[in-house]
Amino acid sequence: MNIWLGVVVGVLLGQIATLATSVYLHRGLTHRALTVHPAAALFLRTFLWVSTGIRAREWVAVHRKHHAASDTVGDPHSPIVLGFWRVQLANAALYRRVARDGETVQKYARDIPTDRLDRWFFDHAFLGLGIGITIACVAFGWQTGLVVSAVHAVTYLMISGAINAVGHTQGSRPHENKATNGRVLALLTLGEGLHNNHHNTPTSARFSERIGEFDIGWWTVRLLVAVRLVKIRQFSRDTVNA
Ligand SMILES: [Zn+2]
Ligand SMILES: [Zn+2]
Repeated sequence: MNIWLGVVVGVLLGQIATLATSVYLHRGLTHRALTVHPAAALFLRTFLWVSTGIRAREWVAVHRKHHAASDTVGDPHSPIVLGFWRVQLANAALYRRVARDGETVQKYARDIPTDRLDRWFFDHAFLGLGIGITIACVAFGWQTGLVVSAVHAVTYLMISGAINAVGHTQGSRPHENKATNGRVLALLTLGEGLHNNHHNTPTSARFSERIGEFDIGWWTVRLLVAVRLVKIRQFSRDTVNA
């Protein structure tokens, strides 16, 4: 077993899954700031299935509800209402509670119907995760593969928790909303930490607005536009210098 290889690969995979979530699920499906080529969308759906087990329409519904009810009792994961540590450490449980509510999903994600691939594959989260863990074990040997899977899971869960917990409590608020911008958080979360900017213009594919704000998700979008896998529908033009 090579434990350090497992840790490095696991952290990298957690970051890549965060990037796929940011570009495809968040900026693409939820806010419709960009459209993804069907071939790239299929690849991203498959990657997110084996790396997170997330069902796209559920993620979209939970996140749209968060925007609709930010930091009120209706918010699925508000650190103001529920407490910082509960959101940071138990974000997945909070997410799951709302994601499993069929009425919420129907109300907030009616534009994302279930298709044949969902019924056959993507709705079966444990099958996807099992395939992902198996691939890691075949690629790195079973012990290192399990370290990769565990470190990946912890990285992804802690980053998602930090976006919701830190991104609503610590940092600057250049715009009038309760979310915050954090430059270190933005680096760790591939741009998602520019959360105050994002709540100000949710339909913008770009979260950065000022010098020193690094939005790696936006750079990725620009790269995917250059190779014609993504089309930008909207992005914020009131950018200061970024
Ligand atoms: Zn938020
Ligand atoms: Zn959003």
